[in-house]
Amino acid sequence: MDKLLKNIIRECYPYIQNGKVATYIPELAKANPNEFGICTISIDQGTNGVGDYEKSFTMQSIVKAIILLRALEDKGEAEVRNLVGVEATGKPFDAFNYSDQDLKSEHINPMINAGAIALCTLIDGETYREKFQRLLDLTRKLAGNSNINLDEDVYMSEKATGNKNRALTYMLKAYGIINEDAEEVLDCYFRACSIKVTCVDLARIAFILANKGENPITGEQLFDKKHATYINAVLMTCGMYDGSGEFAITVGVPAKSGVCGGIMAVVPNRMGIGIYSPALDSKGNSCAGIKALEILSRELELSIF
Ligand code: GLN
Repeated sequence: MDKLLKNIIRECYPYIQNGKVATYIPELAKANPNEFGICTISIDQGTNGVGDYEKSFTMQSIVKAIILLRALEDKGEAEVRNLVGVEATGKPFDAFNYSDQDLKSEHINPMINAGAIALCTLIDGETYREKFQRLLDLTRKLAGNSNINLDEDVYMSEKATGNKNRALTYMLKAYGIINEDAEEVLDCYFRACSIKVTCVDLARIAFILANKGENPITGEQLFDKKHATYINAVLMTCGMYDGSGEFAITVGVPAKSGVCGGIMAVVPNRMGIGIYSPALDSKGNSCAGIKALEILSRELELSIF
């Protein structure tokens, strides 16, 4: 496995040139585009990491999978579904060009910014700091890593500049989808996006999702099985934003990307994968990361289709 992963890194390295690191969150512009790491976890092969797989980066949109899980566990499927739909929008993750006077819950999904921001309101907790803490605790539990923490610099950077997310949040309020204090909800969302992980953490979280909420090594059921089905289905159709259809054809597994350059891929019943390579394509997905998943999927026949 190590040899295969090393070859993939070598083969995909040139694809870094096709992308650019995100700059709209100023702190993310400091990322080194040449960093590239992969980690896989499976029962038969254990944990395999190559390249910069121990380098940490912020989850960004990958945390949307955890926000969805937290909301499902706290409020149940019906309430979650009522607030945020599950259909792909075919639009960029931060789009706000909804049709005139016509934003409804079913027009958003948990993997775009509007949907994830709305779902923060469903997390249990008296205050938004408490809600965030519950998200952080869940991330630590899924990754089996109590050292996971916030990147304060990225958090402050996005909080200071995230006006598009502010606009989206006020739009959700204007349409009556949420009724809470917009700045409080946003603070929770910005903090969530700034949770710092490594490829190993992402592979571990994906491995739990791949095994329907169970850690197959310890036998512990970490969350309700039916919530894994819900999340994996939404990751499959919406996890790579408006690149999800193409990704379903070329890779064929549920996955979530983030503008940090991370990708978490879930191979049902088989494997968890974490990738980091910060140069992004025009849709905000890691260029070399997607190529690496294409090759891995082809070599190991990972596609669920
Ligand atoms: N924090 C980022 C934002 O809201 C997350 C977006 C992403 O990773 N695509 O813009």
